[in-house]
Amino acid sequence: MSEFDQYLSPPNLWFSELHKNEVGLTFRIKDVLYAGHSKYQRIMVVDTFELGKVLILYGSIMFTEKDEYFYHEMLAHVGMFAHPEPKRVLIIGGGDGGTLREVCKHPSVEHVDLVDIDSEVVRISREFFPNIASSFDDPRVSVHFEDGAKFVRESKDRYDVVFVDSSDPVGPATTIFSREFYQSIKEHLTENGVMVAQSESPFYHAQFISGLFDDLKKVFPYVRMYLSWMPAYPSGMWSYAFASLGVDHLPKRGPETLNGKLRFYNPELHKAAFALPNFVKEMVGQD
Ligand code: SAM
Repeated sequence: MSEFDQYLSPPNLWFSELHKNEVGLTFRIKDVLYAGHSKYQRIMVVDTFELGKVLILYGSIMFTEKDEYFYHEMLAHVGMFAHPEPKRVLIIGGGDGGTLREVCKHPSVEHVDLVDIDSEVVRISREFFPNIASSFDDPRVSVHFEDGAKFVRESKDRYDVVFVDSSDPVGPATTIFSREFYQSIKEHLTENGVMVAQSESPFYHAQFISGLFDDLKKVFPYVRMYLSWMPAYPSGMWSYAFASLGVDHLPKRGPETLNGKLRFYNPELHKAAFALPNFVKEMVGQD
């Protein structure tokens, strides 16, 4: 052991994401790989001892390498398998490419439009997270850099499945959490069309979630919440909104036909995720 060992050891550098400025998740950083900002938000990529590399936007954790597949598989495959044969898919947000990677595993898919307001998120994800951003070069994929709300207002296209893989409802993402936005999405759905949106944590965001589900129920005839785990998100209990013109949330096919492996999703979890604790049923006005 040399006398300089203590100066060579990793820094005692920590990151905390606070929820409501009162509680939070804290982890030790091995290295800061990128720190900068785009026109829309601060962007950081850090390497950590426990969670792998982490993408942080505006101080908020987007995903960690250790748990990203929990979120991306449960967001993507519940919507994709609830549809009888999804061919055309729209992803609003999701510039990291994780949801896109999962959608592209479905052989029925013919075309995907991904609309993220921030081209820097795509660039940085491709550079630091090639396993997550692995489908941007798939020939079925078109990427658009603009506000998702503007895209759906102006587009005439229709989709079998629409995902809202947005950041939290602050800053540029406020436009993609409004009733007008859901109304525009509804107008872009095909007959058996399905929309799935990430919808925050019932443990910390009760009021927001009640408002969101009230809005969705005013727009869509069929609306259900489902839940899954997401260890690096506030409370670890994460919710998703499933909305459709009528098609129910149950899986219509099994995962045998997918191109690529699944580490989290399976049909049993798909069905079970729609069972809600009583306090959450009350929050979303569900029996
Ligand atoms: N799953 C993550 C989470 O819940 O923490 C979010 C994934 S993804 C990184 C969120 C993306 O939404 C970001 O890349 C951000 O640029 C994009 N975004 C925010 N507002 C947007 C808007 N109005 N239109 C399109 N994309 C938007």
